[in-house]
Amino acid sequence: MVSTALIGIIGGSGIYDPEIFKIEERIKVHTPYGEPSDFISIGSFNNKRVAFLPRHGTGHRIPPHKINYRANIYALAQLGVKWIISVSAVGSLRDDYKPGDLVVPDQFVDMTKKREYTFYDGPQVAHISMADPFCEQLREIIIESSADLGVVIHKRGNYICIEGPRFSTRAESLAWKRTLNGDVIGMTLVPEINLACESQICYATLAMITDYDVYSEHPVTAEEVEKVMKKNVENVKKLLSRIISNIPENPDEKRCSCCKALEKALI
Ligand SMILES: [Zn+2]
Repeated sequence: MVSTALIGIIGGSGIYDPEIFKIEERIKVHTPYGEPSDFISIGSFNNKRVAFLPRHGTGHRIPPHKINYRANIYALAQLGVKWIISVSAVGSLRDDYKPGDLVVPDQFVDMTKKREYTFYDGPQVAHISMADPFCEQLREIIIESSADLGVVIHKRGNYICIEGPRFSTRAESLAWKRTLNGDVIGMTLVPEINLACESQICYATLAMITDYDVYSEHPVTAEEVEKVMKKNVENVKKLLSRIISNIPENPDEKRCSCCKALEKALI
C-alpha cells in the first residue's frame, strides 16, 4: 500500500473543514477482519498527512455495537498512523460538565457486552496494560491546543462505555454516576481504544457533551442537543487543525510509552 498518514481522526464525517483540508484521496482498505466503516479520506495539513474515518460510516448507518473496530484500527495502522484522535459525542453524568463543553477523558470503565476486544485471539496471547489507557502526551496536546479558543474543556473524565444501542435506565445512569464515578457516557470508546493500544498507536478522545444523561432532573430537548452539536462542530474543526499542527512529526519527540505497549504484553 503506497498511501501513508501520520495522524488518524475517527469521528463524524462533518468534522474536518474542507477549506483547510484538501482531501487528496479516498481509499478502500481491506483487512483480515473485514471492511472498515467506510472509505478512508486522506489529506494534508501543514505538510502532515491526516487520515479521516467516519466511525459510523457515511450517513451514520452503523450502530455502535456493529462497528468493525478491528478493521478500523487495523486499516489506520496499515497506513502507518502513529496518533489517533477519536472524536465522539457523549452524555454528561455530572451537573458541572455541561452540554456544549468538551472533555478529554483520562479513564474509562467498560460496560460493553459482546464486542471483538482484541487482535490477539490466540495462539499468540497479549495482556496489554491499560492502567492509564489514554496517551498522556496526546491528551496534553489537545488541552494545550484549546487555549484561547473560547471553549470549556475539562482536562479529566471517566468515560463509561455502554453497549447500547439503547440509552441507560434511570437506575443504571445513577449507578454509573455514583458507583462507578463516571463523568461522561458513550457507546464507542471500547474496544477502539484497546485495539489502538495493541497496535501501539497513541490514542486520545475529544468528547463533545451533547446532553445530560437520564440521571438528571433536567433532561435537555432534542432541539437543544442539535443546537449544541452545531456550535461544537465548528469549535472542534478549529481545534483539530491546531492539534494537528502541534503533533510532532519526529518519532523522537514522543514522550509517552504507547509505542512500546506490546513489549511486556506478549506471552
Ligand atoms: Zn502515546
